[in-house]
Amino acid sequence: MTFLQTERTRLKRLPKRGHFDRETVYGILDEGFICHVGFAAEGQPFVIPTGYARDGDKLYIHGSQASRMLRTVSAGIDVCLTVTIVDGLVLARSAFHHSMNYRSVVVFGRATLVEDREEKLAALLALSEHFIRGRWADVREPTDEELIMTTVLSLPLVEASAKVRTGPPLDDEEDYSMPVWAGVIPLRLEAGEPIKDPRLPDGIEAPDYARDYSRR
Ligand SMILES: Cc1cc2nc3c(=O)[nH]c(=O)nc-3n(C[C@H](O)[C@H](O)[C@H](O)COP(=O)(O)OP(=O)(O)OC[C@H]3O[C@@H](n4cnc5c(N)ncnc54)[C@H](O)[C@@H]3O)c2cc1C
Repeated sequence: MTFLQTERTRLKRLPKRGHFDRETVYGILDEGFICHVGFAAEGQPFVIPTGYARDGDKLYIHGSQASRMLRTVSAGIDVCLTVTIVDGLVLARSAFHHSMNYRSVVVFGRATLVEDREEKLAALLALSEHFIRGRWADVREPTDEELIMTTVLSLPLVEASAKVRTGPPLDDEEDYSMPVWAGVIPLRLEAGEPIKDPRLPDGIEAPDYARDYSRR
C-alpha cells in the first residue's frame, strides 16, 4: 500500500527520488531511531531531536511529563517529523555536483496522548525494542509512578514521504575527463565494544544484543 501524495508531501525537487510505498518508508523508519520533531509554539518554530519507534501504522515518541515539546505537541497541533539516515558522501568532479547518499522520511500529522495504561506500556515496550531488541525482557518494568511521569504520544502514519539518493556522482559530461578522484565515501552507524558500568558487579557479561548491536 502506498501513502497518498498530498500538497504537503509532493516532491517538487528531484521527484524521481521520492517514494510513497510503505515498504520504503517503514524500512527507513525501522532502521533509524532518532527523529526531529518540528512544531510551532506561539509563532516560534522549534525542531527538537528525540527517539521514536514505529508500531504498525503509527509512531511513538516519549519523554518526561515536563517536556515542553511533548506538552505542546500533545495539544493536537500540526507537527512535521523527519528521520534521516546518511549512507555516504558523494564526491563529484565539480564542487557543484557533490552530494550525499541518504534515505529520509518526512511525516506530517497530529499526535495524540497515549493515556490507556496498557497501550502506554505497549508503546514503551515498542520504543525499548526498537532501540535495543531484547532489552525489555531483562530490565525492571516501569512502576505506576514512573508511568505517570512519562508522556507517550502517538502519531498516525497517514501523510508521509521518503526520499532516497543512491549511487555515484552525476557530473557534467565534460568534467568526466578531469584527473580528479570521484566516487562515494560510504558512511554507516557502527556500534563499538560495550563499556561496562563501573558499578556492575563482577560476573555479569554483556548480553548478545549489546555485543552484536546493529541497526540493520
Ligand atoms: C539523540 C537524542 C535522543 C533523545 N531522545 C529523547 C527522548 O526519547 N525523549 C525525550 O523526551 N527527549 C529526548 N531527547 C532530548 C530532547 O531533544 C529534548 O531535550 C527534551 O525532549 C526536552 O524537550 P523540551 O522541549 O522540554 O526542551 P526545553 O528544555 O523546553 O527546550 C528549551 C530550549 O533548550 C534547547 N534544547 C532542548 N533540547 C535540546 C537538544 N536536544 N539539543 C540542543 N538544544 C536543546 C533549545 O534551544 C530549546 O528551545 C533526545 C535528544 C537527543 C539528541
